[in-house]
Amino acid sequence: MIKLLLVSFFICSIVSFVLLIQVIRKKISFWRFCVYMVIQLLLGFIFFYKTIPRIESRFRNIKHHVVVRSKDCDCKKNDLIKNDYKTVHRPMAIKVTNNGLILDHKVLKKRIKLKKLVNVVEGDGFYMINAKNSEQCLTPLAEKRLKELGLLFRSLIENEENKKDYFVISSMTRTEAQQENIRKLYPRAATKGFSTHSYGVSFDISEIISFGKCSSAQKALKLALSKMQSEKKILLCPETKCIHVTVIK
Ligand SMILES: [Zn+2]
Repeated sequence: MIKLLLVSFFICSIVSFVLLIQVIRKKISFWRFCVYMVIQLLLGFIFFYKTIPRIESRFRNIKHHVVVRSKDCDCKKNDLIKNDYKTVHRPMAIKVTNNGLILDHKVLKKRIKLKKLVNVVEGDGFYMINAKNSEQCLTPLAEKRLKELGLLFRSLIENEENKKDYFVISSMTRTEAQQENIRKLYPRAATKGFSTHSYGVSFDISEIISFGKCSSAQKALKLALSKMQSEKKILLCPETKCIHVTVIK
């Protein structure tokens, strides 16, 4: 988005410069130059009006996350029951999305337009960071379950000072092209074959932002995840630095 803005600004500057030269050479009249400039300014205003809020929200997204965090509270030490990735997570992701693999950004945009993917940034009890190689969107079912998980997490918090705790999502939907980038960056860690993230039904919980006792927040998250897992709404795969969640029902 910023690149697009810079390119537009560059094009506008060149057009203005060319027009100015034309005025100096007396190829066009001054009033015509003014009309062109007004049109350009109007188009620029419409463009900025549409894009600035999106850019601003992206920055707010990052800033918000950095400002409010109080201390690290990871998700590593948990005794969650693991569902096997290859034999359970992946086949279920394919099944619930009717093999809806998101190959690239073209497919991603089309799915968003058709509302088969919805934007998700934050809700009660959770927050999605602006991550590289990941899109802030999920299938409507996965979004519903994530919101449910956030509310459940908050409801299971016992300590008063933990009431505003939230868990952080470090990754959501990745196109197969983005997944390929990750494979290149982390050849050992990346899963072979298609990732469930490329179906829009998975997200990774990387940490909890806790304002009280970290152990209380960890306990609430573990209870919430286990409850939804036992209800067969989600599958879990605790990893080294995060908890991988796949929504199935
Ligand atoms: Zn994952």
